[in-house]
Amino acid sequence: MKKEKVKTCKYFKCNKEVYSPKAEFCGEHERFYRGHRNTIGSVLLTLGGIALSVLVKKQMK
Ligand SMILES: [Zn+2]
Repeated sequence: MKKEKVKTCKYFKCNKEVYSPKAEFCGEHERFYRGHRNTIGSVLLTLGGIALSVLVKKQMK
């Protein structure tokens, strides 16, 4: 078993070194992951807003 001191990117099939000790991904995939997370976040916010307005409409009946 070999011990690696350098953390590598968690991305599937990517073995690049992470850009900082606390990072989980290499620079390229960190950017990709963050962009993705922001997209998911805004979608969830939109869905949450729709769900809220539906609930409010139901209560107003
Ligand atoms: Zn990577």
